[in-house]
Amino acid sequence: MLEGVLARGDRAVGEAIELAYLRGARFDSWEEHLDLGRWQQAFEDAGVPMSRYTGTLPVSARLPWSHIDVGLEDGFLAREYRKALKDQLSPPCGKAAGMFVHHTNLAESEADRRKLVCYDCGVACDLGAMRGERLVYLKKLGAEGPVAIDLEKRRQKRPEERRRPKVSFVQGTARRYRLRFEKTGPSAFVGHLDLLRLLPRVFRRLDLPVLYSQGFHPKPDLTFGPALSLGIASLDEHIDVRITADLDLEGLCEQLTAHAPAGIVFTGAARLSDTDPSIAKLLSEGMARWVVGLPVSALPHAGLLSRPTDGDWVTAVRHEVEGQLEGGNLVVLRTVDGIGKKIDVRSFLRGVRVGVGREALDRAGIMGDLLPIQIDTALSGSSGVRVGEVVEALLGKEVPFRAVRASMWARRPGSDHDTTPLDLAALRRDAAPQRELLAAQE
Ligand code: SF4
Repeated sequence: MLEGVLARGDRAVGEAIELAYLRGARFDSWEEHLDLGRWQQAFEDAGVPMSRYTGTLPVSARLPWSHIDVGLEDGFLAREYRKALKDQLSPPCGKAAGMFVHHTNLAESEADRRKLVCYDCGVACDLGAMRGERLVYLKKLGAEGPVAIDLEKRRQKRPEERRRPKVSFVQGTARRYRLRFEKTGPSAFVGHLDLLRLLPRVFRRLDLPVLYSQGFHPKPDLTFGPALSLGIASLDEHIDVRITADLDLEGLCEQLTAHAPAGIVFTGAARLSDTDPSIAKLLSEGMARWVVGLPVSALPHAGLLSRPTDGDWVTAVRHEVEGQLEGGNLVVLRTVDGIGKKIDVRSFLRGVRVGVGREALDRAGIMGDLLPIQIDTALSGSSGVRVGEVVEALLGKEVPFRAVRASMWARRPGSDHDTTPLDLAALRRDAAPQRELLAAQE
């Protein structure tokens, strides 16, 4: 009813719409937001009865928008309406009588001299020009004559042959590159799936020939590290990309940053060899360092502590965290699509330092009177742990926070040390004995 009134209403409805808006009507096409009572009251208070617009209108009635000229003759739509009531079709205009689609080649189009259908609607098309224009475009497309399709031959093809896509492009040999970038400011709100679309656009703007997968839906060959939760900034993201060109790494980061949206800043690049493990594999046994900033003004209201111990919040929060680490139940519930899953935060935690990490917050542009907490978590496990879940386990659900992933570390093969994914020399040095061992075993 409301849609009907708004669609058929005249300018008197404007006052009722404004009243409803001023009284809080928003997003009314979403059922959970619609309050029909509010609209009815607004119409009543504006002195505009809704029923005025929901009744039957004579076909000849002047409508509120009749003064707007859209180029149609008076009575054309009424004629079409009457035809529709009698089940009479109006085949598409601009085509030869009886045709529902245009000819698809020049020979047939030129041979057909029938008159084109026109209902004289008032737009006054130049049908002769339309016919000529169509011939020009068919010629441009090279559609000279009908194409014979051998249906029998098609049927005889084996199903797997029919399904296999035709590879129609040659891409050349791919080289592997690893790029490191920051994702801060507005880009912290770019979700992981959007990032998958955003980065290839950056490469396209620079004309970098990214290798595409083959198949029905070719996709750029990119490999990402662990995904970030939406709204969490990062100073240390990595991506592996295959590019079919030798890139000059000097100045590459500056060029990529210049073509990236605000908040995406490339900070490192390296060429990978064929034997270097992918970033996903490398970080699957690594570690992430987060810095969480708690707004000091919100701490008393978050039910955490009523006043700072020994005069400062760092000590107070440290006591709270240490208490939780010693004896607290660090299990939180993660709910996805209504299905809950228990996450044992303790099994992922590698370290917590209250009052440390201010520089990371500053670099990520997270400002204010904040209490920083540096948190190290393991990246292993089927789904990892989210930084919000760590905060919830240590300080409760009510504590507001902003967070940044400050760095990620890969476990160096065969060693107990971690290193940054761009330190290829260290990673290769540690991997060499392992490779030799594997070769000897083979
Ligand atoms: S004037 Fe043009 S749009 Fe109108 S009926 Fe004739 S061909 Fe169609």
